[in-house]
Amino acid sequence: MFLAQEIIRKKRNAEVLSTAEIQFFVNGITNNTVSEGQIAALGMAVYFNDMNMDERIALTTAMRDSGTVLNWQSLDLNGPIIDKHSTGGVGDVISLMLGPMAAACGGYVPMISGRGLGHTGGTLDKFDAIPGYNTEPDSALFRKVVKEAGVAIIGQTGDLVPADKRFYSIRDNTATVESISLITASILSKKLAAGLDALAMDVKVGTGAFMPTYEASEELARSITAVANGAGTKTTALLTDMNQVLASCAGNALEVKEAVDFMTGAYRNPRLYEVTMGLCAEMLVLGGLASNESEARTKLNAVLDNGKAAEIFGRMVSGLGGPADFVENYSKYLPDSQIIRPVYADRSGFAAAMDTRELGLAVVTLGGGRRKPGDALDYSVGLSKVCALGDEINPEQPIAFIHAQSESAFAEAEAAVKKAIRIGDSKPEATPEIYRYIRESDL
Ligand code: URA
Repeated sequence: MFLAQEIIRKKRNAEVLSTAEIQFFVNGITNNTVSEGQIAALGMAVYFNDMNMDERIALTTAMRDSGTVLNWQSLDLNGPIIDKHSTGGVGDVISLMLGPMAAACGGYVPMISGRGLGHTGGTLDKFDAIPGYNTEPDSALFRKVVKEAGVAIIGQTGDLVPADKRFYSIRDNTATVESISLITASILSKKLAAGLDALAMDVKVGTGAFMPTYEASEELARSITAVANGAGTKTTALLTDMNQVLASCAGNALEVKEAVDFMTGAYRNPRLYEVTMGLCAEMLVLGGLASNESEARTKLNAVLDNGKAAEIFGRMVSGLGGPADFVENYSKYLPDSQIIRPVYADRSGFAAAMDTRELGLAVVTLGGGRRKPGDALDYSVGLSKVCALGDEINPEQPIAFIHAQSESAFAEAEAAVKKAIRIGDSKPEATPEIYRYIRESDL
């Protein structure tokens, strides 16, 4: 038996907490026997004095075990349980293709996703744009779709990681979100509660990333790789570029369209392709479905080209209540905005830099994200055909199209887009899509 105030005191004095102390405190978060003030105090003590890897593993596993941990053994699946998670971006529609692609190669992907946060889009909001698709199925339906389609992408259920729900909401209003230890435990406890064999973690870098610098992103990637592997889930983190909108568009229904076009082969944005393939190939290798990256890429290209990934996406959509002919007829089901009009730059030159965060906020302002929790979204709005860094720009060529519901919303977004995309005299040096991999062997 411990005292919460003694655990806080120890961390305040920069001492190392034992696994038993961490478990005691996390139990207290879950069953309300530690107070909000005590949770905030521990959060601030960790913020300043940090945790070592053993403490981070203990915190992550204690939080993971604070609610239901999914177990897939009874389904007798003939492949590994694999998943991907991203720290969040703009035009990051990877999950929609990656889940079906991994399933088409023999994996099972029970992906628990989130809603948009701040300037970033949320996978769950994208699926909510599909009429009938149930992002909150009961456990029986979730398991059925994972077994039959190989992939189901849904939202967090009530009894998964209750400790994070309470801790995160207190961190959010006590200035303790930005701690690598606490972010690691928060993200991984939710992912590992899905009962995964392997995980590819996409840690974004750049103007639209959650972490402020490359160094901070790399530190988070290292922490996640160490803790997830330490907790028994084979994990690699990829540092990927978020210095520009990842897909050609940003906005819920627009991104769903781009994802389907990607899978059918109608259009594949090259940056989106590179990052999707990098993450998905790593999932296949970690899950034992391919012996190396090049074999994994060959398999993934095959399931894109033979239509299997698109077919599985369709099966997941109909399995979760969406239209049976969604892949073939998505335009019939996804909403279009009232106004779809181009934005032009004021001068010629090259697309030199993008404030990706501001572009994400422009989508939020158009109504594609929430201003406050619980806001209803307009799925039709957003940006499309966003130029890429390095593109040559002239005043006749749009730098993006805005999908808006009113003239005033269009005008506001037009000003934001023009400000966020800087036109320069020279072509900027190209940034890689993937900066580096952080595997367990790199630690
Ligand atoms: N996302 C999470 O789920 N948790 C954090 O702490 C930060 C981002």
